[in-house]
Amino acid sequence: MKLCFATNNKHKLAEAKDIVGKDFQIVSLEEINCFEELPETSPTLEGNSLQKAEFVFNKFGVACFADDTGLEVEVLDGEPGVLSARYAGEQKDSNENIDLLLKRLHHFPHRTAKFRTVITLVGLDPAPMSFEGIVQGRITQERKGSSGFGYDPVFIPDGHTKTYAEMSLQEKSLLSHRALAVRKLEAHLKTLSSAH
Ligand code: IMP
Repeated sequence: MKLCFATNNKHKLAEAKDIVGKDFQIVSLEEINCFEELPETSPTLEGNSLQKAEFVFNKFGVACFADDTGLEVEVLDGEPGVLSARYAGEQKDSNENIDLLLKRLHHFPHRTAKFRTVITLVGLDPAPMSFEGIVQGRITQERKGSSGFGYDPVFIPDGHTKTYAEMSLQEKSLLSHRALAVRKLEAHLKTLSSAH
């Protein structure tokens, strides 16, 4: 059965295909000919992932899931949170976002933070279903590592000594916030396929 992942991010697609691609054929936005910008105007991760998945399902009639992720820093009252991609401005520049984060945290020794992903699935159940993945960790004093994307060079997950950017893709995929949410989605999809 066809299931759209409302993303064109190749890395996210590969990760999702790897985890849930057995019973479902995961397709990207491009593959269903959706080239529009998806609405993402909610003040919460839950709201944004719902908005994106509903938009695709209503317009293209394909069951769909969408994700939204934020980095939530404790001493910054959960900032950048839902604004993670555009923390330093609409240009969505990861380097500038990290610079701003390190600047705001400059005087804080306490650097606890978490990555939170919310995935919302629309079109397979009577109502939308949400799945959350959280990884607790801390923000480093400076960038370390060069793989990954976004805030990877400044985030160390609890129980580890390396930043996400110092880990291989496989290492990060085993423990990442998004992988946790995708695995919960997978468990739910399994219950649906065994019911058919
Ligand atoms: P999105 O909802 O997945 O597009 O994520 C929003 C923003 O959060 C991205 O632009 C990144 O800055 C950040 N982000 C999301 N996932 C990750 C990750 O795995 N590592 C580092 N930053 C991430």
